[in-house]
Amino acid sequence: MRKPNVVILGGGYAGLMTVTRLQKQLGVNEANITLVNKNEYHYESTWLHEASAGTMHHDRVRYSIASVIDQNKVHFVKDAVTSIDSSNKKVILENGELSYDILVVGLGYEAETFGIKGLKEHAFTIANVNVARQIKEHIEYQFATYKAEVEKREERLTIVVGGAGFTGIEFLGELATRMPELCREYDVEQEKVRLICVEAAPTVLPGFDPELVDYAVEHLQRKGVEFKLGTAIKECFETGIVVSKEDEVEEIKAGTVVWAAGVRGNSIVEKSGFEAMRGRVKVEKTLLAPGFKDVFIIGDCSLVINEEINRPYPPTAQIAMQQGITCAKNIAVLVREQGQMEEFAPDIKGTVCSLGEDDAIGVVFGRKLKGMPASAMKKVIDNRALFMVGGPTLVLKKGKFKFL
Ligand code: FAD
Ligand code: NAD
Repeated sequence: MRKPNVVILGGGYAGLMTVTRLQKQLGVNEANITLVNKNEYHYESTWLHEASAGTMHHDRVRYSIASVIDQNKVHFVKDAVTSIDSSNKKVILENGELSYDILVVGLGYEAETFGIKGLKEHAFTIANVNVARQIKEHIEYQFATYKAEVEKREERLTIVVGGAGFTGIEFLGELATRMPELCREYDVEQEKVRLICVEAAPTVLPGFDPELVDYAVEHLQRKGVEFKLGTAIKECFETGIVVSKEDEVEEIKAGTVVWAAGVRGNSIVEKSGFEAMRGRVKVEKTLLAPGFKDVFIIGDCSLVINEEINRPYPPTAQIAMQQGITCAKNIAVLVREQGQMEEFAPDIKGTVCSLGEDDAIGVVFGRKLKGMPASAMKKVIDNRALFMVGGPTLVLKKGKFKFL
């Protein structure tokens, strides 16, 4: 009997979790498993703000995919997906194509810029290792240039972060932590540096616990972050941004603009004909795409409704990893043509937002945490994600152990 081809697109949290579970569940003779990823490495998207701010080397946030897959069972293809041809059950890659019987789409997130002029051209988005490295180097370049130029442009020392969601706040926490050392390194007076956070909503971290939000704002303000709340970015250009608050429009000159104000699913999803809202497909409970018996969509390319409030769950690594576990089980059911597919139900254990190296806020199992305990919890969560994919070996290699 011909073995079915199971093809998994994307080696992020969702894809890698699916593959590492599937390789334990299926025997070599049951299916051909292929994982496709752009890079030969996986990166922890949840650590990219650290690499972007330069508080962690970019090599620390990534590890080789080969080190966590069973190469007797999984064929790894390093290539970029360009589209999915679901009518002919094919995936088109930059350098070839693959046929599938069962497909998993886990191609992750990209920036949603809502059509705001100039953002794509002039702002960075914390999207992957390449951009994280670029953001870090760009900030350093601005500081070095400021010191070297005769007619000093102080705006080179201004960094604007658009959005005070979890990404924006975590990035600001790292930047604020690094700033004293960066200023020393480039002989820049720290009073001249501006870290500005522009948030359209009236509060930071909209919807999060107000007491913890106040703690975060105070902490970041103490470290020099300026907040412009109820203020939306309207345009971005090479030397800064235009914002508006009610009817007032202001121009802010800045050497670095980082857009952390929105994500969407990978645009390949809708370009390939799947019905999607901002690249996210409202999947069945089995994680199959509606109308498909052979295409699972997981991670940030999927949309799962929280039935208690009838709104989508925010896209997170926590959900992506849990989906990977269910997806692997459901693939095994399809491959063996026996058993019942599992219905996916997110088990949200909480949220922790770091505020730099040794501070954080969070709600975990319904308990509020702040300061050191929250920061330690964040590291436990980060290590747990490593453990779930690569066991103790990966934790020892990449884990975070500086708890105090
Ligand atoms: P990704 O992790 O984005 O992985 C997608 C993979 O697909 C990548 O390996 C990418 O290289 C690959 N890929 C993309 N396009 C192609 C292509 N065309 N061809 C081949 N391969 C491709 N969530 C939490 O739960 N907790 C947190 O603390 C947290 N912190 C975050 C911090 C930051 C700074 C950011 C930006 C996000 C954070 N999130 C957090 C959200 C979380 O990172 C995402 O929800 C999660 O990464 C989604 O997982 P995924 O597998 O769907 O996608
Ligand atoms: P987000 O959508 O959660 O937050 C974006 C913020 O930008 C919002 O507060 C929004 O009001 C603001 N905004 C939108 N348009 C704006 C404009 N024109 N000008 C100024 N502000 C504007 O995005 P995110 O923070 O990148 O998070 C993406 C996903 O990743 C979320 O699901 C989040 O939960 C998850 N995440 C989780 C963690 C964590 O658990 N520690 C960390 C980072 C990200």
